[in-house]
Amino acid sequence: MKTQEILQTPKKESKSDSHLGNSESNPWQQAMAQLDRAATKMKIDPLVVERLRHCKRILTVSVPIKMDDGSFKVFEGYRVQHNIDRGPAKGGIRYHPQVSLDEVKALSFWMTMKCAVVNLPYGGAKGGIICDPSKMSLGELERLTRRYTSEISIIIGPDKDIPAPDVNTNDQVMSWIMDTYSMTIGYSCPGVVTGKPIEAGGSLGRKEATGRGVFYVTRELVKAQGKDLKNMTIAIQGFGNVGSNAAKIFHENGSKIVAVSDVNGGLYDEKGLDIPDLIKYAAEHKGFASYPKAKAISTDTFVEVPCDILIPAAMENQITSLNAARVKAKYIVEGANGPTSGEADRILHEKGVWVIPDILANAGGVTVSYFEWVQDIQAYFWNEDDVNHRLQDIITKAFKEIYAMAQKENVDLRLAAFMVGLNRLAKTVKLRGTFP
Ligand code: GLU
Repeated sequence: MKTQEILQTPKKESKSDSHLGNSESNPWQQAMAQLDRAATKMKIDPLVVERLRHCKRILTVSVPIKMDDGSFKVFEGYRVQHNIDRGPAKGGIRYHPQVSLDEVKALSFWMTMKCAVVNLPYGGAKGGIICDPSKMSLGELERLTRRYTSEISIIIGPDKDIPAPDVNTNDQVMSWIMDTYSMTIGYSCPGVVTGKPIEAGGSLGRKEATGRGVFYVTRELVKAQGKDLKNMTIAIQGFGNVGSNAAKIFHENGSKIVAVSDVNGGLYDEKGLDIPDLIKYAAEHKGFASYPKAKAISTDTFVEVPCDILIPAAMENQITSLNAARVKAKYIVEGANGPTSGEADRILHEKGVWVIPDILANAGGVTVSYFEWVQDIQAYFWNEDDVNHRLQDIITKAFKEIYAMAQKENVDLRLAAFMVGLNRLAKTVKLRGTFP
C-alpha cells in the first residue's frame, strides 16, 4: 500500500491567513473568546472559567526516527489534555506541517466542549505532530507513529486519555498506536485508542460517523425551519474522511451536491455531481483534479460558491472577516473544527446565515468513538444499525436542546451550544470542587 492511499495530502496554507490579525488567526485566542462569550451569558462562576482557560496537561515530545535513506530526523509532537472532569480525556491526533501548540490546545478545548455538548462521559484532549505525511513513506509513518505513541504512553490509556484519528491520520495509524501501547504494557488493549480497523477492535459505522452526524444535524435544522433537504444544493470543502462520507450520505438521501473541493482543486456542477462516480474516480486517480465531468473551480474562493448549504470539512479559519460577506449559503455546517472565525461569525449572523457549530456538527465522530470504546471494554460488539440508531438519538437530542436554547435566549447556534456544554461541565467542576 502506498502512503497516498492511506493518507490524504495536507491542505496548503490558506492564502488569506497571512492577512488576518493575530487574534483572528490564532485558534487558542478564538477558542478563549468563545468561552468568555458563553461564560458571561450563563454567569458561570469565574473560578470555573479560570480553570477552563488552562489546559490540565501539556506534553511536548521529540520524536526521532530513522528515515528510509538512512538519515535521522527529529519531529516535534504534542499531546494536550484540556480537561478530565467529566471522564477520561478524548480526542484525535493530527499530522500536518502547520500543527502548533496553540492549535492543539484549542482543539483539545473544543473536544472538552464537544463531549459535554453531546453528553459523553469524557473530557477533552488532542495531539499532533509537525510533519508532512505526503512526503513520507509508509515505513517512516509507522516508525513516527510508534515512537510518538511510546513518548505519550506516560499519559494515555483506556481510563486516562484515548486518542483517535484526525487530519491525515486513519485506521492504520490507530492500529499502530494500539499495538505499540499494547506491547509496552504486555497485553492487548484495544480500548486505548478509537477509530481502529474492525479487525483490530474497531466499531462498525465509525468511519462514516462524522459525515453521518453532519447529515443528521443538517436534516434536523432544515426540518425545524419547515424546509426540505431534498430541494437544497450543497457544497462540501474537503474530501477526506468527513467530506467524502458526508457527500456520500447526503447523496444517498437524495440531496444535490453541486460543489466539492480537496487540497488540489474544486469541482462545480449546478445540476449536481455524481458522487459515487466521483468517489470512485478520486480513489483511482488519487484525487479529482482531472475529473472530466464537471467544471473546475478555485479552492481560494470555494466558500463563496453558490449553494444553500456549505459544509467546510477541511481545516481551521476558512471563513474569516476577509470572505464571510461573500458567502452565498444560508446554512453552514462545520464538519471541520474551527473553520469559522469569531469575526466571520458576527458577519454571518448579521446576514441571517445559520451556522451549526463544530462542537455539535462534527460530534458524530467522537460519539461513535465512545461506542467503540464501550464495545472494546465490554468485548461485546454491536451491529451497524445499533450504532447508527444510537448516534442518531444522541445527535438529534443535542440538536433539539441547542436549538431550543438558541430560540429561548435569542442567540446564534454556536453560543447556544457553548451555553449548553459549559453549563453541564461547570456543574461537574463545581460539584467535584478543588483538590486539596
Ligand atoms: N478527531 C475527531 C474530532 O475532532 C474525533 C475525535 C475522537 O473520536 O476522539 O472530533
